[in-house]
Amino acid sequence: MPVRAVLWDLDDTLFDYTGSDRAGALRHLRAEGLLAAHGGEEAALERWRAVMETEFARFLAGEVGLLDHRRARARTFLGTPLLSDAEADAWFGRYIAHYEASWALFPDSVPVLEALAPLVRQAVLSNAATANQERKLAVLGIRESFEAVLCADELGHAKPAAEAFHGACKALGLTPGDVVHVGDKLDIDALGARDAGLRAVWLDRAGAGKGAGEEPPPGVRRIVSLAELPELLRGTIGFGAPSTIR
Ligand SMILES: [Mg+2]
Repeated sequence: MPVRAVLWDLDDTLFDYTGSDRAGALRHLRAEGLLAAHGGEEAALERWRAVMETEFARFLAGEVGLLDHRRARARTFLGTPLLSDAEADAWFGRYIAHYEASWALFPDSVPVLEALAPLVRQAVLSNAATANQERKLAVLGIRESFEAVLCADELGHAKPAAEAFHGACKALGLTPGDVVHVGDKLDIDALGARDAGLRAVWLDRAGAGKGAGEEPPPGVRRIVSLAELPELLRGTIGFGAPSTIR
C-alpha cells in the first residue's frame, strides 16, 4: 500500500534547532561581552543551557508565563536578580534577534522536500506552538512545501500521544496507515507514530558515520540522512504492510 503523505517533525529534523540555538546564544553572549566572564564559549554555553533548562521546566510546569520565564533566564544568567523587567526584556530580545538570525535548515532538507513534492502530500506535525512554527517555516522559505502545519497547541495533544498523530491524519483526511511520520526523537516521534498506527521513520543524524548502529525497535525504520528517504519510500513495498509493521 503506497504512502499517501509524509508528516514531518520540524525541530532537529528539517530545522537545525540545536545548531541555530547554539549559534544564536554564542552571538548574543559575544555581543554582550559575556563570554570571558563565563569561562569561554563552552562554559558559557553550558551555563546558558543549564539556566534555560531549569527555567523552562518551571514554565512547562505552569509556574511562570512566557514573559516571566524569559526575564528569569536573563536575571539568573546575569546573576542580577534586581534587573528591571524592561532591562530583562531588552536583554532577552537581543538574544532572540541573534537566535533568529542564526536560523538554518539542514543541508538535506530542501532537496528531500523537493524530491518528495511530486510523489506525496507533506505536512508538519510539531509539539511547538503553531505561531512559532508558521513563522519559522515562512522565514526559512519552506512554508509552501506543506499543505498543513499541525501543532500540539491546536490539536490539543502532543506527541507521543496517539491523539496527536490521529488528529494530524484526520486533518489530512487520511488513515494512519497511509501516513509516514519522520522525526528525530526515537521515543516521541518514532515510537509514538508506530504505536498510533503510522509508518515510523526515525532520523538518527547522530548515527551517521557510526556504521550500521543499533537495530531500531520493531516497526521503526532508521535513517541517518534525509537523502535516504525518497529511496525508502519508493521501495514502500519493502517498507512493510501495516499488518507487519505493527
Ligand atoms: Mg524534533
